[in-house]
Amino acid sequence: MNRLWSPCIHELVPYVPGEQPKIPNLIKLNTNENPYGPSPSVLTALNGEVGSGLRLYPDPDASKLKQAIASYYHVSPSEVFVGNGSDEVLAHAFHAFFIQDQPILFPDITYSFYPVYCRLYGITFTTVALDRDMGIRVNDYQRPCGGIVFANPNAPTGIPLSLSEIETVVRTHPDRVVLIDEAYVDFGAKTAIPLVKTYPNLLIVQTFSKSRSLAGLRVGFAVGHASLIEGLERVKNSFNSYPLDKLAIAGAVAALEDEDYFQEKRALVMRTRDLLARQLEAMGFLVCPSATNFLFVRHPDHNAASLASALRECAILVRHFRQPEIENYLRISIGTEAECASLQAALVAALDAA
Ligand code: PMP
Repeated sequence: MNRLWSPCIHELVPYVPGEQPKIPNLIKLNTNENPYGPSPSVLTALNGEVGSGLRLYPDPDASKLKQAIASYYHVSPSEVFVGNGSDEVLAHAFHAFFIQDQPILFPDITYSFYPVYCRLYGITFTTVALDRDMGIRVNDYQRPCGGIVFANPNAPTGIPLSLSEIETVVRTHPDRVVLIDEAYVDFGAKTAIPLVKTYPNLLIVQTFSKSRSLAGLRVGFAVGHASLIEGLERVKNSFNSYPLDKLAIAGAVAALEDEDYFQEKRALVMRTRDLLARQLEAMGFLVCPSATNFLFVRHPDHNAASLASALRECAILVRHFRQPEIENYLRISIGTEAECASLQAALVAALDAA
């Protein structure tokens, strides 16, 4: 308790990000970063921004980036919002759309930042159980609510929804915002961005952190009807006029322009994932069908926390959640082919030793 704090701060339960330790030669498969660096043209663009021009503020509208995202996804710049990582975009969206007279809905197992935003902004929420195969049953969301949030593919399960399932939910809640968090969509699911032309209540949030290898630059964006974007701009301009610095704007534009690099690296991550999934299954792991750059797995005969600590002893970090329904699962980010081979070898040894 701190008597100098605003009273509501005592009630906050902050999000806990995955560790970023400084262990040498660590194989870091715990925070779903891309194992490959960003496109070389991103580095050139960043270098181009380093100079005396940094004395000036960046463009508060990041118009070049909005334009680049709009052309990439065939929407208008007025349908695009950008922010400091998709975490910030999500926070503004919760603030702008979800303080309603009814609770918002999201799955009980999903990105653990959602309840944190709810507590920050005084948003009431109800969580909805996944089915026995860890999937989202969209019919469970066909009820009155203050809004709906799905990560698609869901995290940490990695399991995607189809566009027709999403469309059913969006169509039946015309007076509520349905937010689809597509942080991992480029690794095998379909984006719902084309649906924003039909549904003014649909907001899609994406990030440059995963498929575009720019977690360190902090760039996220939303696509939706211009009136939703205007709501987000109001919140943003009441909070921070310049969430994206000059390097972030230039780097993100360059990343979008290098389509070949993007396609090559995401295909490589997906191939590595599918190979690792088959190898883990052969070792007796149950592997959720993933459309992401991570696998969510459990072994019927082995405790996940013990496996995570055995891996840690080999300087391999994976994510283990201390949440009752999923405490026997590990979430393993897809690394390079060599990193995944080391992980597999370390797991074979851990299973043998147990
Ligand atoms: N959504 C989901 C489902 C995530 O897993 C993450 C990464 N932790 C984010 C959003 C936020 O990503 P960023 O802020 O790096 O864009």
